[in-house]
Parts: sequence; C-alpha cells; structure tokens
Amino acid sequence: KRRIAVLTSGGDSPGMNGAVRAVVRMAIHYGCEAYCVYEGYDGLVQGVRWPLSKEAFFGLVLLHTIEHVLSVSRIKEAHWEDVRGFLSEGGTLIGTARCMPFMERPGRLTAAKHLIIKGIDALVVVGGDGSLTGADKFRAEWPSLLEELVQKKELTPEEVKPFQHLNIVGLVGSIDNDLSMTDATIGCYSSLARICEAVDSVDTTATSHQRAFVIEVMGRHCGWLALMAGVSTGADFIFIPESPPGEDWQDEMCTIIKKHRSMGKRKTIVIVAEGAHDQQLNPIKPSAVKDLLTKKAGLDTRVTTLGHVQRGGTPAAYDRMLATLQGVEAVKAVLDATPDTPSPVICMIENKIVRRPLLEAVAQTKEVAKAIDAKNFDKAMELRDAE
Ligand code: ATP
Repeated sequence: KRRIAVLTSGGDSPGMNGAVRAVVRMAIHYGCEAYCVYEGYDGLVQGVRWPLSKEAFFGLVLLHTIEHVLSVSRIKEAHWEDVRGFLSEGGTLIGTARCMPFMERPGRLTAAKHLIIKGIDALVVVGGDGSLTGADKFRAEWPSLLEELVQKKELTPEEVKPFQHLNIVGLVGSIDNDLSMTDATIGCYSSLARICEAVDSVDTTATSHQRAFVIEVMGRHCGWLALMAGVSTGADFIFIPESPPGEDWQDEMCTIIKKHRSMGKRKTIVIVAEGAHDQQLNPIKPSAVKDLLTKKAGLDTRVTTLGHVQRGGTPAAYDRMLATLQGVEAVKAVLDATPDTPSPVICMIENKIVRRPLLEAVAQTKEVAKAIDAKNFDKAMELRDAE
C-alpha cells in the first residue's frame, strides 16, 4: 500500500484544512494509507517527540496505553473520520511552523529517516513558495540522503531499498495570491472577503463623520489583495508594489480625493498594500498618507491596520472548493508520478485545475520581485498577468 503524507507549512491560510481533508480522503479512496505531519517541517524533522527519557517513557506507558505513547509522534496515520469537520475550519488544524533545521541538510537527513521509518515516500506540501522550494530541494537530494543514512548506519540498505524516489506535490496555501502560474491560491478569497467586511464596517463611521480612512492590507510583494479590495469596496486610491504611483502622487491623490468629495462623496478610503512604495522604492507608509490627507486635503483621517484579522476565520466557499479540487488532483499527481516527472504544483487557470512544474512557478514568482527591485514595473505587471 502506498503511504502518502500531507503537511502544512509557512503562514497559515483559510482553506488549508480543506486541502488536508481532500488529500487524506482521496488517498484512502485510492487504497493508500494517509498520514498527517504535524507542525510543518518541524514534524518531519522531529518525527517523534524524543528525546523522551527512559523514565518518562515507562511512566507514560504505565499511565496510558502504548498507543497513546506512540501518539506523541508527529507523523500520524489519518483515517477518514480524523478529518471530519475540517472543511469549515480556518487556519490549519495540523499546525504549521517556520522550521530552520529543514533549511539545512542535516535537518533534511533526519526528516528523510523519519519518513522511511514510517514507510512514506510521497509528500503533499501545502504552503507558500518557500515551503515548496524546500520540498523540491528535499526531493532532489533524496537519493544522496538515503546513501548518507546507510553510510552512517542509521538505516540498512534493505530498509531504504523500497524508497528510492520521493514524490512531492505542492499546493499553494497563501492569502497573498502571490504565486505565478495560478489564478488563485488557497486562502486569498477568504482574506479578500474579510478585508471587504472590515472596509464596509469602517465605511459606516467614515460616512457618518465625513472622515477619511487609510487601510493597510497584507500581501507582501503582491498587490492583489489591495487591488481587489479597492475594486470591491470602491476605494478612492490604492497603492500596490507592482504599479507604484507617479512622481507627483501626493498631488494626484489629493486632487482625485477632492474631486470625489466635490461630487458629494462623504467618505474617503485609501488602501495601502503592506509592500507599497514609490517609484524610487521608498516605502509608502499609511501614517504618511494620513498626514498628507489631513494637511493637504483637510480631511479628518484615521489609519486602520487590519493585521491578522485578514488571515483568520472560516474559509470562504471558493477556498473550500479550491482546496478540495486541488487536494484531489494532488493525490492523482502522486499516483501518476514517475521518477522523471518534475514535482508539480497544482494550480487553477481559467477555472480549470491544472498541474504546472513547481520549480518554474516558484522561479517566475521570484522574477516579479526582481523586476520590482530593478524598478521595471511594466515587467512586474506583465509577469503578474502571465499564465
Ligand atoms: P508564506 O508565504 O506564508 O511565507 P512560505 O512557505 O513561503 O509561506 P517560508 O517561511 O519561506 O514560508 O518557508 C516555510 C518553511 O519552509 C521554512 O521555515 C523552511 O522550513 C522551509 N523552507 C523554506 N525555504 C527553504 C529552502 N530554500 N530550503 C529548504 N527549506 C526551505
């Protein structure tokens, strides 16, 4: 029986649980055994929460059953009913972490050993570009990791023999929608919905008091959340990293906002992506925009930073659907994989679930950041538009 493991890594996002559920159930449906790795790559590296002293071990055995003691393992088999109720839960119920040891080869060596001990040679990783890069590196190193494990007598040649190849499949869990080659990442539509709700709430006070609000939203180098939130709430002005405003943006913004006010608008909403900057890459801070609106446009202005509210809560219907369809495809991709197939990432392009080479998607994503750093904003926009 094939054993397929799933883990969530990097920042949490709504819908990750739906992906875990789909992978577990689809694996079982296809006659495989499903495993959940708890706390991201930390779970792979730690395997079982050792070192547990002998006294502690026997103490636990006396107090509980041996099964209970073994359940401290961070790589656990998941049954159909173990993922019941996962679809509507936010965040990730199997935990996530930023794991420094996995960045280094010794950490990955231990991770490989734990996977082989559990009989697992297929891993579905739900995370951002960092997590997916790490996963592909793990796969590339896999044969040499096995050699080293045998050399160091950590495992015998017979033990490693059935596990010559590691299958990796990526699913993108991120609210930022920052990965190239996919129209949507798991979590981005939940986050967008939450931002819209928050802006609607702020609108009430803004309209009552004729105030201006500067709202900072997440997204790091990617302006998707800010742009779509602006479109969805009818914001007056938006700042995004890929398309910074012109040199005289201060005047431009105030002129536009004054025009809107002269047309009878009682409120002003300006949305600033957390990675926003001007043409010279100087950060555009919400506090600076507030000062400008106060002094230059004469508006009573407040700043609202939404913070982690944007990342939390229950997943929107779209993310549940995306996570489920992509989780199903991930298991199919594992079962289709040959040693020569490059690791795929499961994407959504024009409403279709498709597989793309994981490394190419990550490389194209990095190109956007490079284009921004080089102040080549046309190229950054072009790359964001590209399939
Ligand atoms: P988010 O978009 O939320 O930041 P991410 O997956 O990009 O998600 P990272 O912090 O970059 O988040 O990566 C998560 C984990 O993946 C790291 O803590 C590390 O364990 C592993 N990882 C990231 N990059 C690499 C790499 N180049 N090599 C090995 N492991 C990596």
